[in-house]
Amino acid sequence: MPNRRTSRENWHLIEALVAYSTKASSLKFVAAFGPPLAPLPMQPPPLCVWLKRDLRVTDHAALAAAAERSRGAGLFAVFLYEPEIVGQPEWSPAHTAFQRECLADLSPALARLGIPLVTRQGEAVAMLEQLRQETGFAELFAHEETGTAVSYARDRRVRRWAREAGVQLVELPQTGVVRRLASRNGWNRHWEDRMESAQAVLRPLARGPAAETLTRLPTAGLLGPADLGQPPDTLDRQPGGERAAAAVLDDFLSRRGRFYSGGISSPLTAATACSRLSAQLAFGAVSIRRVWQASEARRREVKAALASVTDRRDRFELRAWQRSLKAMQSRLHWHCHFMQKLEDEPAIEQANMWRAADGLREDEFSQQRFEAWATGRTGYPLVDACMRSLLATGWLTFRMRALLVSFASYSLWLHWRPTGLHLARLFLDFEPGIHWSQLQMQSGTTGINTLRIYNPDKQAIEQDPQGVFIRRWLPELAGVPTEHIHQPWTMPAAVQQAAGCLIGRDYPEPIVDHTLALRAAKARFTALRHDPAAWAEARGVADRHGSRRDRRGAMQQDPVRRELAGTGKPRRSRRRSVHDGQRTFPFLAEEAED
Ligand SMILES: Cc1cc2nc3c(=O)[nH]c(=O)nc-3n(C[C@H](O)[C@H](O)[C@H](O)COP(=O)(O)OP(=O)(O)OC[C@H]3O[C@@H](n4cnc5c(N)ncnc54)[C@H](O)[C@@H]3O)c2cc1C
Repeated sequence: MPNRRTSRENWHLIEALVAYSTKASSLKFVAAFGPPLAPLPMQPPPLCVWLKRDLRVTDHAALAAAAERSRGAGLFAVFLYEPEIVGQPEWSPAHTAFQRECLADLSPALARLGIPLVTRQGEAVAMLEQLRQETGFAELFAHEETGTAVSYARDRRVRRWAREAGVQLVELPQTGVVRRLASRNGWNRHWEDRMESAQAVLRPLARGPAAETLTRLPTAGLLGPADLGQPPDTLDRQPGGERAAAAVLDDFLSRRGRFYSGGISSPLTAATACSRLSAQLAFGAVSIRRVWQASEARRREVKAALASVTDRRDRFELRAWQRSLKAMQSRLHWHCHFMQKLEDEPAIEQANMWRAADGLREDEFSQQRFEAWATGRTGYPLVDACMRSLLATGWLTFRMRALLVSFASYSLWLHWRPTGLHLARLFLDFEPGIHWSQLQMQSGTTGINTLRIYNPDKQAIEQDPQGVFIRRWLPELAGVPTEHIHQPWTMPAAVQQAAGCLIGRDYPEPIVDHTLALRAAKARFTALRHDPAAWAEARGVADRHGSRRDRRGAMQQDPVRRELAGTGKPRRSRRRSVHDGQRTFPFLAEEAED
């Protein structure tokens, strides 16, 4: 158990040493302070804010709460480069580089507010204890994190350490996720309250000797991939940081957002039609509350304009804005809705949410299929173009992410965990709660979602009719005529010659027969959903994780939720439905998607 008296004495020693270095005379130091460990006039110990995935100053509840409490005592922020976090298979050089940009933006912003940023490299408890010994801090502020099993275990260790060391650990929410939630009933109200509550305000701290002392704390500086033993970040990606996030938000709400509705599914338009806030949200360079409130302000502005504008063209534009803002705001709600699932059941990072699906894919993993998919060489052009664009940029729109997962999970019958790890590493915006919930949802292992099986040929024709996106990312198909671009294996030999693309040499044959593979996948799921035990299981999942929002028609089509709501007995629908260009068959519907 650490010795508190020693750490406090050390804190005085640091202050004394700083005074010593600034006064530049050991005689003056000894005359003024006596021997280093002699009792000194008591200074209140500083407070510490532990930054994790919350790299901003605006609407930062932990910083604001600590600053409010500090009252003359110093306050410093610490960011830890933890080998166990960087060593996770989900973590990539791009994540480190993006994080570094966020910290580079944050450090001067904190300094302007009188809060030094200290970084350390090492295991969290060891580093926090080291800092406690150096500064004597007795209060530690942080945001709650809905993270991976590694960060979850780390947080538990930190909590235990704090209890034993007598450090008061204050953890505050930063999203709509509710910790220790008893039931999903009423969750929407929690979320709305959080989004509508006032943003945390951080006032500059008075500069004094305590603050001056803290600026001298040793720091590891800002580390990039090379410092952490990673290869260089080669992504052609967006920059990180609070200022970049604010600019992206502003640009979206004033200009690009008009094209959100109707523009987010095709990979041709999505890169600019989508908000592109996901990575900034994942690293906490902007708070979801700030994004929500800014979008609300814009929505009200549009509504007011609609009430006064009469010109038909203007009204058309405003209506387009209205649709777009509504659609984008529903995604902000999903952000926390999906994260709440992991918060409530951390095991879903590794295990099927619907345990009835255990054993479906586990023993049939094909490394060869996985590698073809992971490198963009399946022989299905849109699937491959999506993967290669993701490998190059770290971002993909929702629909194309879903296509990649659907292809891996149904057509290639790969388990979602290895494919999910590959994608997590590639997604700059990797957010565990959204990611693993979506992976399971798009793989059919939640038990409560409509089975979404995307047909890659159909998606290609709908989303990239001329093959522009395909040719951009698959240069070997650049010369393929448009009539064959979605199914290049149908090119006659002479056309292949003329196009400079021999199938099997320059571009692979399709790795599987998609139609046959889907038939087999559907048969296996159909068998499963007729099993009464599996049905009962799904009911439990719906109760624990299901959205309580009664979207249009959802309740009628969703026997589990109808039963939960007490409006009828479970009844299997025989209706086959077509959902927004996707081949689906009704099972237990939850959220509609894009
Ligand atoms: C298999 C799969 C894995 C995914 N993994 C992640 C992930 O790790 N991190 C991540 O942020 N998003 C993930 N998504 C959701 C979605 O694809 C991205 O949030 C979106 O493409 C990011 O671009 P954007 O910021 O421009 O989104 P916009 O469409 O502009 O949406 C605004 C914000 O809403 C949230 N959001 C959007 N769509 C969803 C959704 N379907 N579910 C939950 N939240 C949503 C995001 O925070 C996003 O930044 C995943 C989707 C799939 C199908």
